[in-house]
Amino acid sequence: MTHTLGYAAKSATTPLVPFTFERREPGAHDVAIDIKFCGICHSDIHQARDEWGGATFPMVPGHEIAGVVTRVGPKVTKYKVGDHVGVGCFVDSCRTCSSCKQGLEQFCQEGMTGTYNSLERDGKTPTYGGYSNHIVANENYVLRIPANIPLDKAAPLLCAGITLYSPLRHWNCGPGKKVAIIGLGGLGHMGVKIAHAMGAEVTVLSQSLKKQADGKKLGADHYYATSDESTFKKLAGHFDLIINTVSADLDWNAYLGLLKVDGTMVVVGIPEKPTPVHAFPLVMGRRSLAGSLIGGIAETQEMLDFCGKHNLGSDIEVIPISKVNEAYERVLKSDVRYRFVIDMATIK
Ligand code: NAP
Ligand code: ZN
Ligand code: ZN
Repeated sequence: MTHTLGYAAKSATTPLVPFTFERREPGAHDVAIDIKFCGICHSDIHQARDEWGGATFPMVPGHEIAGVVTRVGPKVTKYKVGDHVGVGCFVDSCRTCSSCKQGLEQFCQEGMTGTYNSLERDGKTPTYGGYSNHIVANENYVLRIPANIPLDKAAPLLCAGITLYSPLRHWNCGPGKKVAIIGLGGLGHMGVKIAHAMGAEVTVLSQSLKKQADGKKLGADHYYATSDESTFKKLAGHFDLIINTVSADLDWNAYLGLLKVDGTMVVVGIPEKPTPVHAFPLVMGRRSLAGSLIGGIAETQEMLDFCGKHNLGSDIEVIPISKVNEAYERVLKSDVRYRFVIDMATIK
């Protein structure tokens, strides 16, 4: 067993505190990783505060993990010591169901093994995430980080990057397409970068115009404030694809009205409560409302390679782990440009 230093939530209502635990020794197909950086995803906060239900404590959050391989099991073929690698939202799945066989491990019919707040396939060993200095994972659930993306800027790609890349690919983002991203946060800013690199005409729909200059630098062609009523009139029937990254309660009906005929709005942000949807904005224009969840392993590797080719990393604010609770409060206030990333060298 390897003694591991981390930060954990001990309950849904208390701040994260230092926590030490043991990781398994690498098995035949496992890779041991020295974690260098871990991004702070809004989902970490939802889960640490049990906003989705079913949380288990102590919880070591973190599923935007970037690090360096320190050891490999005797049967590992994909990685060697010194490689730059990442771990995303899951570390295992059943490997045999039709979803797993199609490379859609995130939809494993037996349930994926979450990187934290989950149980290993044995059904009893809790998983602990990336707010820690060391992790062990099966090589088939580890990703290769391109050499030209520094590990700190790469970490958020493991969740924010793939969560936007997957629906953009699935709904054919590309040249000639008008794509809107709702919410310029961790997910949203990666959506703007990736959709722009895919060649689409990109619009940000943000609460205000405060981040407009940033949005344009990230690759947005247009930027609108959703607090301004006229935005919804100006942009009626305008978009092929809208990706909604917001977890606050929004009026989805108003946004559906911004789609062209046959347009799709994809929900990736996860509000706590159900959202009422009227039939009218859907039937008027054969529009679709869809959802998407991260991406499978092969697609995540494809995204990382795409980001390598286009030199896309995340825009980040690196913090010591002692500032994690402060960072959570700032994420909740949308006060982040655009992802907090923990420097794991600061863990003691
Ligand atoms: P984030 O960094 O907090 O960004 C969310 C953005 O939503 C904010 O930057 C803000 O953008 C906007 N927003 C916040 N409060 C709002 C309000 N009251 N009204 C309207 N807009 C508001 O969070 P994130 O890490 O990107 O995650 C976003 C959501 O996606 C979370 O629910 C997370 O759990 C979920 N998620 C889903 C998946 C998936 O696979 N489906 C994966 C990862 C995360 P503006 O300031 O520009 O308006
Ligand atoms: Zn996430
Ligand atoms: Zn499966």
